[in-house]
Amino acid sequence: MTDAARRASTPPALPWHDSVRWQHLRRGDGCPLCNLPPAEVAFRLDAAIVRVPATACVPGYACVIHRRHVVELHHLADDEAAAFVRDVNRVAAAVEQLTGATKINLLSLGNLVPHLHVHICPRRPGDPFEGRVIDPGQTRTDAYTPTEYADLMLRLRAAVHFGSSR
Ligand SMILES: [Zn+2]
Repeated sequence: MTDAARRASTPPALPWHDSVRWQHLRRGDGCPLCNLPPAEVAFRLDAAIVRVPATACVPGYACVIHRRHVVELHHLADDEAAAFVRDVNRVAAAVEQLTGATKINLLSLGNLVPHLHVHICPRRPGDPFEGRVIDPGQTRTDAYTPTEYADLMLRLRAAVHFGSSR
């Protein structure tokens, strides 16, 4: 990987320190995940929408986002939480199978955008985060070739929707 291929990213300042701004974000005012451009949505599931960006921390990265603005998993009713976790599991199982990951890391952070979402990060020996916790915000423009990305999208959509990942 070249330096040019790796997007330099320093950790952004958390918005918690501006309590007014943070309360706006928690309410969903101007929430970027509530207003995702359709082109950024790879597919939709029962309770979630899924992003699979071409610029990613590791190949196979996916982000499962609740369909409505809710901050925490425990803010959902039990049946809503179960539906969301079911969607996370469908995507995680497909990512595991398609990438041959050694381990799947699930991260639910929301420190920058307090709208419930789970980062699905397949880990492998020698990945750029070996020996440390993965940072889904540290993205690479060379995670895929265009052909690899198109192939992953096709296979991931099929695996999630038709259950071929199990
Ligand atoms: Zn939102």
